[in-house]
Amino acid sequence: MTTFASLGLSKPILAALEAKGYNTPTPIQMQAIPPLLEGKDLCGIAQTGTGKTAAFALPSIQYLSENQQPLRPHQCRMLVLSPTRELAAQIADSFKTYGKQSRISVECVFGGVPINRQIRALARGVDVLVATPGRLLDLVDQRAINLKQVEIFVLDEADQMLDLGFIHALKRIATIIPKQRQSLFFSATMPKTIADLGAQFLNDPVKVSVAPQSTTAERVEQFVTFVHAKEKQALLTLTLQAEEAAIDRALIFTRTKHGADRVVKNLQAARIPCAAIHGNKSQGQRTAALDAFRKGEIRILVATDIAARGIDVSGVSHVINFELPNVAEQYVHRIGRTARAGREGIAISFVDGEERAYLKQIERLTRVQLEQRPLPSNFDAEKHKLPKPVAKPEAPKRSQGNYRRDDGQRRDRPEGGERRRYGPKPGGVGAHKGSVRKTGGR
Ligand code: AMP
Repeated sequence: MTTFASLGLSKPILAALEAKGYNTPTPIQMQAIPPLLEGKDLCGIAQTGTGKTAAFALPSIQYLSENQQPLRPHQCRMLVLSPTRELAAQIADSFKTYGKQSRISVECVFGGVPINRQIRALARGVDVLVATPGRLLDLVDQRAINLKQVEIFVLDEADQMLDLGFIHALKRIATIIPKQRQSLFFSATMPKTIADLGAQFLNDPVKVSVAPQSTTAERVEQFVTFVHAKEKQALLTLTLQAEEAAIDRALIFTRTKHGADRVVKNLQAARIPCAAIHGNKSQGQRTAALDAFRKGEIRILVATDIAARGIDVSGVSHVINFELPNVAEQYVHRIGRTARAGREGIAISFVDGEERAYLKQIERLTRVQLEQRPLPSNFDAEKHKLPKPVAKPEAPKRSQGNYRRDDGQRRDRPEGGERRRYGPKPGGVGAHKGSVRKTGGR
C-alpha cells in the first residue's frame, strides 16, 4: 500500500499529516508528490476536493525547508496564484497546517481588503506567497514585492483564471518571474486554450489527471424539478422547509449576484436563516458568511459560481441549483461541493423552460440522466401561504452602469463580469512563447 512515507516525504511533514489525521495519500498525491520532489514541472487535471492542495504544498514545503535561505526583504521563494480570495485563503491555511513543523513562513494577499497590512507583511520577505493576480500586481507596482527570487510557481484553477479574464495579468506575471524555476499548473478542465496557456509556463511537465472533467461525483443523487421561473422561489422555500431535518448544510447556486441577494431576502422573509456569498459582498462579509457556514451557525449559503468555486466545506448535504449554469462543466463543479470525503449528497436542479437546453448539455457531459422529481403535491396551495417574493427590479429606461442585453433589457450582471480589469480577451500569450521557460532544473 502506498503511504505518505513511501512517497519520500520527510519526518516533519509526516508528523503534520498525522496530526491532521491523513492516513493514505489521495490519487493525485500519489501521482504528483514523487515527481515534484524531484523538481519536475507538473501539469495536473484535478479539481478541488481531490487533495490537490496537499499534492503541491507537501513537496514544496519539503524543498523549501530542506533548502532554507534567509528571507530577503520584499521577496518570496514560492508563488501560488489562485483566482479567488476564498481559495487563496484556504490554500494559505493548508500551507500553514502542513508546514507547522517545517519553519515555513506563509502570507496570503488578495483584493477587497486594505493593502497596507499586506505591504507591511511582505517587507521582511516570505517563503510562500499565495495571491490573487490583481492584488499581486498592485503590490508589485508598489514595490512591496518583487518576484525575482521565485523558485516554485503554482498556477491553480487555470480554467477559472481565464473565465475571470486574468489572462493579461498572468501574461505580465509570467514576464517577471525567473525563467529558471519549477512550475505547476492545475486546471479542472483542459480544453485547448488552457493547455496552450499551460505550455507557456511549463517545461517538459509530468502530466497527472484525476477524476476526468465529465465524471459527476458518483455518490451524489441528482434530481431535476421542472418549474416556472416565477415559482422557483416558492419551490425553494418549500423544499428547504420539507427537507429541514435532512439538511446538514445546503449550498444554493444562483447565476447572478442580485439573484443571490433576492433569494436570501425571500428565505429570510420565510424565517429561514441564510447568508449570501458573491463578488459584491465585502471581504469581511464573505469571510463571516463562510465561517458561519463552516461552523454550522447557518446551514444555508446562497452563492454564485465564482464565489463558491474551490470552497472546501465538509458536510454539505444538499446542493440546490436555483438556476442552472450555462456552462455544463460548472454543474460538475457545483455538485462536487457535496458528497465530499466519502459522504453522500443530494443535488436538486430547478429548471424552467429556457434552461432545458442547458440541462441537455449537462446530461450529455455527465452521461447521467437526472431523476425527475415532481413539484410537491400541495405546491399550489402551499405557495400562496408564503410571504410575497421580492420582485426583480424593473429595468429603468436609461441608467449608467446598467448591464444591457442586445434587446435593451437590463439583466443582472453574471458574477465575474466586474472583475475583468485586465481585459476580457483570452489568448495572446503566444507572444511570450518560450520566454518563460525554465532553462534548467532548480
Ligand atoms: P483539496 O482538493 O486540496 O481542496 O482537498 C480537499 C479536502 O481533502 C481538504 O479538506 C483536505 O484537507 C482533505 N485531504 C487532502 N488530502 C487528504 C488525505 N490524504 N486524506 C484525507 N483528507 C485529505
